[in-house]
Amino acid sequence: MNLRQKLLLMFSLTVVGLVVAVAWTVSVRVRHVFDGIDQQQTSALVNQFQREFNRRAEDTASALDRMAASDGLKQIAFELGNGGDAASYLQAALPLAQEYRLDYLELVAHDGSILSSFQWTARFGYREPAIAGAGQPAFLKQEELPDGTSQTGMFAVRTVAGSDPPLYVVGGRQIDASFLTDFPTPAGTHVYLYRNLTGSFDVQNFGAGAKTAGVTHFQPVVNEARNSGRNAGGVVYPTRQPVDSVDATAIPLKGLDGSVLAVLVVANSRRGVVEVQQHIRDVAFGVAGLGIIFAVLVSLWIAVRVSRPIEELARAAGEVAAGDWETRVDIYSLDEVGALARSFNNMTRQLTEQRDKLVQTERVAAWRELARRLAHELKNPLFPLQITVENMVRARRLPAKEFDEVFTESAATLQTEIANLKTIIGRFSDFSKMPKPQAIEMDAREAVWRVVKLYGPALEEKHIQVGTSIASEALPILGDSELLHRALSNLVLNAMDAMPGGGTLTISVARAGEVARIAIGDTGEGMTPEERERLFTPYYTTKQHGTGLGLAIVQAVISDHNGTIAVEGAEAGGTRFLIGLPLVQEEVDA
Ligand code: ADP
Ligand code: MG
Repeated sequence: MNLRQKLLLMFSLTVVGLVVAVAWTVSVRVRHVFDGIDQQQTSALVNQFQREFNRRAEDTASALDRMAASDGLKQIAFELGNGGDAASYLQAALPLAQEYRLDYLELVAHDGSILSSFQWTARFGYREPAIAGAGQPAFLKQEELPDGTSQTGMFAVRTVAGSDPPLYVVGGRQIDASFLTDFPTPAGTHVYLYRNLTGSFDVQNFGAGAKTAGVTHFQPVVNEARNSGRNAGGVVYPTRQPVDSVDATAIPLKGLDGSVLAVLVVANSRRGVVEVQQHIRDVAFGVAGLGIIFAVLVSLWIAVRVSRPIEELARAAGEVAAGDWETRVDIYSLDEVGALARSFNNMTRQLTEQRDKLVQTERVAAWRELARRLAHELKNPLFPLQITVENMVRARRLPAKEFDEVFTESAATLQTEIANLKTIIGRFSDFSKMPKPQAIEMDAREAVWRVVKLYGPALEEKHIQVGTSIASEALPILGDSELLHRALSNLVLNAMDAMPGGGTLTISVARAGEVARIAIGDTGEGMTPEERERLFTPYYTTKQHGTGLGLAIVQAVISDHNGTIAVEGAEAGGTRFLIGLPLVQEEVDA
C-alpha cells in the first residue's frame, strides 16, 4: 500500500467514523426526547381514562343512589317487608332499568336471592354475591348473560332506603368498545379494551371491531398486565415496517376482589420518531458519502503536494545509487519537502564536486608516479650509455689497435643498453595499448580453474599450498577469458612474490547476490593501509625488478568488465583480493 492509498484510507475511516458517531448520538438523543414525549402523552391519556372511568363510576353510583331513594322502590321494600309475595315483583327491574338507563339491574332480597333481574329474568331465586359491595363505590364486574356470553360492566350496590329487612339493588352499565369511542384521543393514538375472559390470550377478547388493527401483537404487554396486575409497556411491531411500530401501554382494570377483569391498551404511533431517525440516517449516509469524496480529493491533493515529490526524490536517489551523480530534482516549494529537495540537490552537487576533485588528485598522483618511474627506468640505461660514450671519446687518443678493442666493447654495451631502453619503452606502450575486452558469455569458474591448473606446479615448487573452493552451480558472466586470465595470473604471481618462504594460497569463486565473487588470498607479508591505498597506481611497486603495472592491469581489466575489485587484510595476516563480476541475468519467462 503506498502513501496515497494509506492517506485515502485514513481520511475515509476518520470521516465515516465521525459521521457515524454524530448520527448515532443525534439518533439516540432524538429517540430519548421522543420517548419522553410519548411517555407524557401516554400518561396523560391514562390519566384521562382514569378520570373518565371514575366519572362513569360516579354516574353509575349516583344513578343507583337515586334509585335506592326513589318512592317506587321504597314502596316495594315496604310491601316485601310486610309479607308481600316475592314472585309478583319478577318484572319490577325492567321499568326501573329503563328509567335510570342501566344495562343491568337486579333486585336482591336480604338473604341474597334474586327477586327480579332485568338482564336475565330466569335467574329468579339465584344467589347474587355482589351484595357484599353494598354502599361501596362503583366497581367492575363480569356479568353472565342468558345466551351464555358475558359482559364487563361498571356496577354499584345499594340498599333501598328504609327497607327492613334490607332490599338490595345491584345495577350497572356495560363497559365495551363503545365506551372507548367517547374518548378524545389525539391523532396517532388508539385505545383498545381487552376483556380478560379466557385463561390464555385470545384476540376475540378485544371485541369484533378491533381485529383489523393488528391487535395480536399486543399479546406480550397484555399478558404482562394480566399476570402482574400492574401497568405494562413496550414497543410493538404490527408490521415489518418500523414506521408502523407503536408504543403500547397496557393498564389492568380490576374487579372488587382485585382480579384483572379487563386490560386497556393505549397504543401511541412511533411514526414520528422513526421517520426522524430514518431521516437522520439518510442525512448521515449522504454526509458520509460526501466525506469520502472529500477524503479522496484531500488525499489526491496531499499526493500532489507530498507523495509525488517524495516519489520524485526516491527516483532521483535511485539514479544516484545507479551512478548518475548529475541527477537533480525539480521541486520548488517552501515547505519541508522543498527543503528536502534542496538538500538533496546540494548533496548530489557536493558529491560530484568531491568526485571531480578526487579524480583530479588521483590523476595528478598517477602522472607524478608515472614521471618518477619513467625517470627512474630511463636513468638506469642512460648512465652506462654516458660512461661508454665518454670512454670512446677518451679512447680516440689511444693507439689504433687499443682503440678498436675499446670501440668494439663499447659498441656492444651501447647496443645492449639501447635494447634495454627499447624494452622499457615497449612495456610502457604495452600498458597504454591495453585492449578492450571481447566479452562473450562464459563461466566465471573456468577462469579460476585455468589459473589454478597453470600455476599449480610452480606453487608446489615454492612450498605454497593451494586451497580452492569453487561453486557447484554455473556462474555465467560476460567476459574476455584471455584478459581475465591475465588479471588472475597477476594476482597469483603477486601472492607468490609475497610468500617467498612458502604459505597458503586460497582461491574461491561463488555466487554472491547478482555477482560472481572471486577471492584470492595469501598468507604473505601483507600491507600497511598506506600501501593498500597506492596499490593500484600504475608503476607503484616495492619490488626491485617490479613494474608496478600488474595491479593497474588487473584493475583496468576488471573495470572494463563492469566489475569491482577491493583489497583487504586477510585474517591469517596476509592479503586478500576480492573481485566481483556481474552475473548474466537469467531471463525470467513471463
Ligand atoms: P609489481 O608486482 O610489479 O610490484 P604490482 O602492481 O603487481 O606491481 O604490485 C604493486 C605492489 O603492491 C607490489 O610491489 C607490492 O608491494 C604490493 N602487493 C601486490 N600484491 C601483494 C600481495 N599479495 N601481498 C603483499 N603486497 C602486495
Ligand atoms: Mg605484480
